[in-house]
Amino acid sequence: MASSIAILFDASKCTGCKGCQVACKSWNQLPAPLDFGDAPFSGTYESPMENTGDTWLRITFDEIEVDENRVTLSFGRDACKHCSDAPCVSVCSSGACHRAHNGTIVLDESKCFGCQYCVAACPFKVPKFSDRDNKAKKCSFCQDRLQNGLTPACRKSCPVGALDFGARKDMMAKAQRRALELMPDFPNVEVYGVTQMDGMGVISILPFGAAEHRETVNPQAPLMTRIENALPAIAGVGVLGALGVTAAAFIGGRGSGYTEEQYTYDKVRRVTCDGGKPMDPDAPIVKVGLKTENKVNAKGAEAKEGEVKSND
Ligand code: SF4
Ligand code: SF4
Ligand code: SF4
Repeated sequence: MASSIAILFDASKCTGCKGCQVACKSWNQLPAPLDFGDAPFSGTYESPMENTGDTWLRITFDEIEVDENRVTLSFGRDACKHCSDAPCVSVCSSGACHRAHNGTIVLDESKCFGCQYCVAACPFKVPKFSDRDNKAKKCSFCQDRLQNGLTPACRKSCPVGALDFGARKDMMAKAQRRALELMPDFPNVEVYGVTQMDGMGVISILPFGAAEHRETVNPQAPLMTRIENALPAIAGVGVLGALGVTAAAFIGGRGSGYTEEQYTYDKVRRVTCDGGKPMDPDAPIVKVGLKTENKVNAKGAEAKEGEVKSND
C-alpha cells in the first residue's frame, strides 16, 4: 500500500539552511548532543554526519563540479522515506514499526523492545537505536500534526518552498512537471521515490541524479525479507502459510531470542495485527489497487480521492 500522502523535496530549491532539520528536532523535542565530542566538527556544513535517535532528519551536502571553473552544492534529505515495501515493518515482531492508515510508516516507541531488526533491515539505515531508552527511533511523518490538520514541521519551516506536502499523486505530478522544467539545465534530473521500494511517501526532485544527492540508486529489501514476502506466492495458501510462519519465526527469533507470536504482519492488508486483528482500529481493509487507500486526508477526515490539501 503506497502512502496516500507525501512530502515533496525539491533539491533544486533547497539552500541548505537546515530550517527543516531544526524544526524536526524542535517539534519532536529531540535534544541536541550535550557531551563534548558528540558532534565533532567535520569540516563541512553537514552536521551531524549521520542521523541518530535524537536527529531524525538532516540535510546532506556534496560538492558538484559544474564545469572547470565552478563548483556548486547538491543537497540531499536523509530521513525516513515511508516505503510501500517496508522491510522495517516486515521484521518488527512487536508491532512497534507499523503502517498507519494513511500508508506512512510509524514507529510506536511504547511497543519497541529494542531488538534493532528494523535498524538492520532498512536499506537506507533510517531507524536509529537510542541507548538513552534502548528503543529504535525515526521520523514519524508528524502524525500528531497531521491529526490536528497541520503539515509536517519540516515542511512548515522551509523558507524557500523546497518542501511541499499533499496527496501523493499530486506531489508526483508536481515533481514530474518540475523535472521537465529543470531538464534543459540539468539533463540528469531524476524524480526519486515514485517506483523505489514500490513507491515512497517522500518524493524528491534531484537535479544532478540520485547518487549525486546521496540517494541509494537501486534500493532493495534485505534478502530474508524478500524471501519471506515471496513465500505466500510461491507456496500457495496452506503449505505456504506454514512456511511463512516459519520464516517469520526465524526472523523474529534472531538475535535476542525473543518471539511474540501474538503480533503478525498481514501481507495482504499490509497492516500489523494483534491476535489476528489490525492494531489500528481505524485501519481500513485495504487491498492493493483499491481506491480506499486514498480516502483519508491529512486531517484524518474522510475525503474523496485527491482531496488532500496542504493545510498549514
Ligand atoms: S526508509 Fe527504512 S525505516 Fe523508513 S519506511 Fe523505508 S525501510 Fe522503513
Ligand atoms: S515529517 Fe516530522 S518527524 Fe518526519 S522529518 Fe519532517 S518534521 Fe521530522
Ligand atoms: S528548510 Fe528548506 S531550504 Fe532549508 S535545508 Fe530544509 S529543505 Fe533546504
